[in-house]
Amino acid sequence: MQPIGSETRHAMSQESGAHRGIGVLVVVVTAAALTAGYLWLPLACLCALAIAVGAGACVRALVWRARLIESHAREEKSRRAAEDWQRRCESVLASADRPTDGEDTAGTAALARVARELISALDKPVLLDRLCHLTTEVLGCDFSTTWLWKPEEGIYEGIAHYGTAPEQWEAMRVLRLPSDPTVPQMVRFLADGVVEVTRDTPDFPMIAALLGYYGFEAVLCTPLRRGDEILGLHAAGYYTSGARFSPAQQRLARDVAQIGSMALANALLFEELEEAGRLKSEFVSTMSHELRTPLNVMLGYGDMLADELTTGTQRELLGGIRRSGVELLELIEATLNVSRLAAGKDPPQIEPLTLSTLWDDLRTEFDALPRTGAVLRWEPVGPLVVRTDRRKLKIIVKNLVGNARKFTPTGEIEVRYTQGRDGAELIVRDTGIGIPAEHLPHIFDMFRQVDSSDARSYGGTGLGLYIVQQLVEQLGGAVTVESAPGRGSTFTVRLPEHPVSTAHLAA
Ligand code: ADP
Repeated sequence: MQPIGSETRHAMSQESGAHRGIGVLVVVVTAAALTAGYLWLPLACLCALAIAVGAGACVRALVWRARLIESHAREEKSRRAAEDWQRRCESVLASADRPTDGEDTAGTAALARVARELISALDKPVLLDRLCHLTTEVLGCDFSTTWLWKPEEGIYEGIAHYGTAPEQWEAMRVLRLPSDPTVPQMVRFLADGVVEVTRDTPDFPMIAALLGYYGFEAVLCTPLRRGDEILGLHAAGYYTSGARFSPAQQRLARDVAQIGSMALANALLFEELEEAGRLKSEFVSTMSHELRTPLNVMLGYGDMLADELTTGTQRELLGGIRRSGVELLELIEATLNVSRLAAGKDPPQIEPLTLSTLWDDLRTEFDALPRTGAVLRWEPVGPLVVRTDRRKLKIIVKNLVGNARKFTPTGEIEVRYTQGRDGAELIVRDTGIGIPAEHLPHIFDMFRQVDSSDARSYGGTGLGLYIVQQLVEQLGGAVTVESAPGRGSTFTVRLPEHPVSTAHLAA
């Protein structure tokens, strides 16, 4: 190898510092932006990081970018529509309190009830069942059904019903009602917002024929819409011979359908929002995986190179590269862990674990890190076998001990695990800088740090303790902290003797 000149070394040390800085910045900004909902920002950051560590990841990032931007737009739209829906419902509810007379009073009260009961339904099937139920009750008719428009098939499909016998509904929902919004009757119906069809209504021969077939006397059809888009049809009907809908019922039915339309639009947006959230988590998780792979390869090559190096200076420089790489890897791991937790995709795998093997692993990993002024002591755990999730317990201990090392410039750190009749206790105690009392209630929150200023002396993202708390809760336990500035901190993780079942936790 060529000896490294002092200028080059200076440039490299700057570059290494810059890369490290960029890496840390990228992950911190990514995590913060995800929390704040600014999705383009993590995208840009992760793309930058991808360019730094591998072109393959970058190409995938671009593919994801399109999906992410789309999901962001949907999120914005959903948020605005939900606020709009809330405002409109509030205005309906407010108008119900205004005194009016006669038919209006009854109608307004009925509408207020419909709005009140639909406002809380975000699940589409629940909402549509409720809408059919309410329509039948407030109109005082025999039954109600809802049909949703399936644009890909060009038909209305039966989704919800109330007041029809189950076998009758089975026979109805197999219908695939076509629609031609250009025929004059349909155009008029959509403009009026309500139409009554009886067995001898000439304008809608197909519906009239169906009434005869199913033994219905009259149906009142109303469109469910979002702006100009037709989402579906809502129908109320009579079996009773000769029964017809009065003009007052028709007005009420139109208003109920309008409220139903808003509620349905809201439920659809909620579905889209959930989809957007799922996409976001998938994006973070995929990108973290993609970034981790080339970084691991780089670290591997670094280790191989270390065996070849002869001079202490060269080894020292390579050690610096390795430290930054490991730090970056840990930050990516933390982002990945948070995204896994958010997606609820990672239920605990509870199995017997010989604790001493985990302790050995951890001791080896921490021994490989550069020495600090604090002595790290692992209290022996003997032949203890515990039932837990090995990977999750390892992340918990690593985060707590990692923090203790970071915040204890001199003194000692002690890691202890005891198993009693009432459960297990993991204690990480340090004699470091401690945490002021006013910060203690917040340090387990995402991105909370005692010192989050630009000039802070300790690195980190503020994700570590959040991850610890989430994982401990997944294992059925709890984590607490006692600390005093200048005297040190003690983190105690209490785990149940028999961890709660995996199935229950996954639910
Ligand atoms: P970070 O990446 O900043 O370490 P954490 O979520 O792990 O994020 O910790 C949140 C904050 O809690 C830290 O920034 C630090 O201010 C404080 N903290 C955590 N552990 C300790 C400790 N052992 N001693 C002192 N302060 C700590």
